[in-house]
Amino acid sequence: MKSGIYPLSTEVIHLIAAGEVIDSLAAAVRELVENSLDADATRITVSIWAEQWRLRVSDNGTGMSCQNLQQAASPHSTSKIRDRQDLCNITSLGFRGEALHSLAQLAQLQIASRPSWQSSSNDADSVQESEGWQITYDTQGLPIEIEPMAIASGTIVTVNHLFANLPTRRQGLPSVAHQLKAVQATIHQIALCHPQVTWQVQQGDRDWFTLFPGKTTRQILPQLLREVEVSDLQEMEQEAGEQNSKLKTQNSKLKTPHSASSLYLLLGLPDRCHRRRPDWVRVAVNGRLVNLPEIEQTILAAFRRTLPRDRYPVCFVHLQVPPAQIDWNRHPAKSEIYLHHLDDWRDQIAAAIDRTLRLNPNTLPETLYSDRIGHLLKTAETGGTWNTLQPSKEIEGDQDEFLAPSPQPLASTLKALAQVHNTYILAEHPTGVWLIEQHIAHERVLYEELCDRWQIVPLETPIILQLLTIAQVEQLQRIEIDVEPFGDQSWVARSAPALLAARSDCAEALIELSFGGDLQTAQVATACRSAIRNGTVLTHSAMQTLLTQWQQTRNPRTCPHGRPICLTLEESSLSRFFRRHWMIGKSHGI
Ligand code: ADP
Ligand code: MG
Repeated sequence: MKSGIYPLSTEVIHLIAAGEVIDSLAAAVRELVENSLDADATRITVSIWAEQWRLRVSDNGTGMSCQNLQQAASPHSTSKIRDRQDLCNITSLGFRGEALHSLAQLAQLQIASRPSWQSSSNDADSVQESEGWQITYDTQGLPIEIEPMAIASGTIVTVNHLFANLPTRRQGLPSVAHQLKAVQATIHQIALCHPQVTWQVQQGDRDWFTLFPGKTTRQILPQLLREVEVSDLQEMEQEAGEQNSKLKTQNSKLKTPHSASSLYLLLGLPDRCHRRRPDWVRVAVNGRLVNLPEIEQTILAAFRRTLPRDRYPVCFVHLQVPPAQIDWNRHPAKSEIYLHHLDDWRDQIAAAIDRTLRLNPNTLPETLYSDRIGHLLKTAETGGTWNTLQPSKEIEGDQDEFLAPSPQPLASTLKALAQVHNTYILAEHPTGVWLIEQHIAHERVLYEELCDRWQIVPLETPIILQLLTIAQVEQLQRIEIDVEPFGDQSWVARSAPALLAARSDCAEALIELSFGGDLQTAQVATACRSAIRNGTVLTHSAMQTLLTQWQQTRNPRTCPHGRPICLTLEESSLSRFFRRHWMIGKSHGI
């Protein structure tokens, strides 16, 4: 294809979801910044003078020749596509050739640009092409002033007096503070999808915020959400359809967008971060955040029963999809798309979240509490008490029926050492020492068993329940329990969940279950009631069995109510605390 900026044919223009794309300061920033990204910029500076309706975006991208610069703001002019076939193969963020033209119509537009050496051709123009030029455009997007300009390679777009000719538009827009918030949100969203970029954002000539680049979004998100740390996040990348995904190491990089499909997942570990609103469940496709409510639902469902009540996960999913499988022309702002194979993507995302939430030996030292341990150690140093951990005495009787060994035990990496305060299991792990709370670990094990196998068994002696309301009776029937009227104001339950049937408090448990909620709520309640209580003395083998079962759960980090289950002390932290790096001579005062 011939490079350069050319007008699109009327046929192609009609196929595009055109519309007003620049309806706010934030939309102007979005369009300019997307142009910088399409020009492969790695450093983008945005300056906003909101009160003056002025903004400037500078980048170190490929830049434009003088000839292209003259074309850039003409209607429907783009270097990114040519004909209707190209519409099925869009690999850039922009392709409609409208943004600069709209800006010329809505504001006073000036662009300075100088192509980078790589982008200049070898012909006679090459000397001229490597020079910088500045053009001021009229409201039709035609050059009115062309002058040479000494600038570094890249592009500087300046927009003055935005919406000056549309006073009602200006009046209709929210306050300056709101608009600035929208600008910041826009840059944050784009930065999530392009972690390799350095962003410098200024209000007027004062620095406003800076975002440093990272190898992946894992380094970016903590810059946007201050309360989240890198170690609170787990990331994963896989080829689409790949069965055994590899958990990401720091050095791996996303596939180039347009090779095969791939899936990048970044999630906040449920024992470490969650949100009051579902505002951090975000989905991006080929470099842009999009609204895909179906995928958002999949993400929320995958985190069910891992978070406290009414809390939502932090989760970012970035799909790289062959361009032919997306139609960007569903909405002018490209935030709504048609994505092929949506159900396949949903399955893959659910499976990927599932795998990432499991305990994985490759990532543990990095992700489980490693920096929070620092605070703990400090507390200890400043006189906080460390309980001496006494091995608990073995008790009589076999508790293994209580904690039946799983049918196919996996090799356990955790070795039970002792019980502490009849509540915590102290365990040795190849990377350190772990404390696991016995009740909630067991609750997690039972809950997942119940989800996999909700078994209602007949009761040897039916239980009489009194004073049930109709709603309670219906609720018991909904969760498959056999209840019938039994005289005045009484009912008889002839079956119960298998875990509860043999318990002496089965009647109370059934009453509790009758108070409502869906099957999942009943499963949580049953698991909670059946799990070993804190304060119960455990034998060594019961502890080991519990650890083995717990490590195999799908969501080992939190109980079904969202409480964290395990605290780890990493060997590296212990080594630091005990000053193992000291030289002997020094510590002997020699
Ligand atoms: P589109 O991005 O849809 O092509 P625009 O009106 O945003 O349309 O831009 C028109 C053309 O100007 C682009 O196709 C591109 O060739 C060129 N251009 C715009 N901004 C830049 C930039 N920052 N660096 C290099 N080229 C740019
Ligand atoms: Mg554009």
